[in-house]
Amino acid sequence: MFLPCTREEMARLGWETLDVILVTGDAYIDSPFIGVAVIGKILVAHGFRVGVIAQPDLKSGHDIARLGEPRLFWGITGGSIDSMVANRTASNRRRKTDDYTPGGENTRRPDRAVIAYANLIRQHCKHTAPLVLGGIEASLRRLAHYDAWDNRVRRSILFDAKADYLLYGMADRSVVELARALAAGQSPLAIRGLCYAAPEPPVEALLLPSFQVAAADQQAFIAMFRAFYDHNDPITAQPLAQQQDSRYLVHNPPQLPLSTEELDAVHDLNFERDLHPLDRQAGQVRALDTIRFALTTHRGCYGECHFCAIAVHQGRTIQNRSVDSLVREATLLAAHPAFKGAIADVGGPTANMYGIECAKKRAKGACRDKRCLFPAVCPSLKVDHGPLIGLLHRLRSIKNIKKIAVASGLRYDLILADKKNGLAYLREIVRHHVSGQLKIAPEHSDPTVLAAMGKSGAELLLQFRRLFNRLTREEGLDQFLTYYLIAAHPGCTQAAMEELRAFCRQELHILPRQVQLFTPTPSTWSTLMYWSETDPFTGAPCFVEKSEAGRERQKAAITDEPGHRSSRPPGKRSTSPRKKKG
Ligand code: SF4
Repeated sequence: MFLPCTREEMARLGWETLDVILVTGDAYIDSPFIGVAVIGKILVAHGFRVGVIAQPDLKSGHDIARLGEPRLFWGITGGSIDSMVANRTASNRRRKTDDYTPGGENTRRPDRAVIAYANLIRQHCKHTAPLVLGGIEASLRRLAHYDAWDNRVRRSILFDAKADYLLYGMADRSVVELARALAAGQSPLAIRGLCYAAPEPPVEALLLPSFQVAAADQQAFIAMFRAFYDHNDPITAQPLAQQQDSRYLVHNPPQLPLSTEELDAVHDLNFERDLHPLDRQAGQVRALDTIRFALTTHRGCYGECHFCAIAVHQGRTIQNRSVDSLVREATLLAAHPAFKGAIADVGGPTANMYGIECAKKRAKGACRDKRCLFPAVCPSLKVDHGPLIGLLHRLRSIKNIKKIAVASGLRYDLILADKKNGLAYLREIVRHHVSGQLKIAPEHSDPTVLAAMGKSGAELLLQFRRLFNRLTREEGLDQFLTYYLIAAHPGCTQAAMEELRAFCRQELHILPRQVQLFTPTPSTWSTLMYWSETDPFTGAPCFVEKSEAGRERQKAAITDEPGHRSSRPPGKRSTSPRKKKG
């Protein structure tokens, strides 16, 4: 069932009014990969009536007012991607295409979509219910944050959008608690994963440097970000408070991880796995190509690459689905009339963290003084790919499934650290789950840059490459690795890019193709380094190439070769776009 998007659809359900209206910067794709669909379906499963307004027109009240006003709250999201990231390149050029807009033309998602939609609601719905922000844009902008497009520190988006509440993280449990509290006329202010504005900070809250101080003083901003990052574990986090203007942003501790049963229940909701018919009139969405027949095995990531925001959005604790739930979903996919036999992905933020977690973290929270994978895999992490091998076996045995790809990024350091089943897992991948090429994400080869990224050294990459090539030869297959690389990351000089080029030629024997320019997205360690030009872990100055010409020169150091075409050895076939990296 699609959630209703029109009055006619509401009438068919016998709903005269709605409890919650969700407004999104994406088209409405009813899929477990899309936050609006998940949040809406969960609320409906708990007895609330929910409608969706996708990509409303900002020039009139026609779209935003078409379902009336909700009884409990408006839920506002910029969509699956932060709207500034979706709309602008790393060099601040307007993007022409949008994978979540019907027809693919980038004409429907406004810049700072969350703020634009909050303003639109206030303009056209005069007796409006509370405004609740959610999704990745709100989540990563929940405290004072550096915004690269404005080149300044901005206030919490809760204040800029003049909203009532902000739910950060995946929010599936928090949103039900919020709807129940509002329906019962109770205060929602104690809900985990909730931010709100208050005239005074709660007595138990840890007071962060104020927005004004953090915006003016980079050392204060670094201290603020460290406290924010340290208080993101649901077991150990304290409430936080940060003065924004005359009021305080109050940041409650994160929601507790979902149990396997709860996560299974999310994926058991009845998703259409399609674009809503109202949106379909304008064409298809490209995102469906990768998510329609793909499976999510888990949430969370303890990789903590410094340029990635997963840790502060989904958290560092892995939340696994059961094998039975995944088999049930795969069987459903295989019976879909449009299914052609191929599962596009079995993964999560990192494909091979399924079933691998630290018992100490589960009991006492993530360590603040060390990392699970950097500079080396922590001995407390009992790495075993056995459960993942078992899952892939089960999925391959399902009728009508001819091919299962693993397109999410793999952490090769985890594979190499698994003395029990690492080799067997990689053999499974090589034998069954690679379509000609396996994409991995070393990102760089220079030790200084890798340390700034929080990534392991190039020697592990070479070790993994030898192993992959050996297994590929043993299996008699014609397969190869492709490598994602980043240019202009903080700490990266032109000389480091020249080193990387030499490494690619001499050690990997390729000319790289997938080189991305670093984008300073909100709420990552790398963005903090970009803005402050300081290594936040040592306090030492950190070189950052900020000029557009210099950034492009770094990229060109790798890609500009006479006759250069790709990272493929001669005679190999092409690749699909990047999905997730580990
Ligand atoms: S003990 Fe090791 S694996 Fe566990 S949370 Fe701490 S750093 Fe991570």
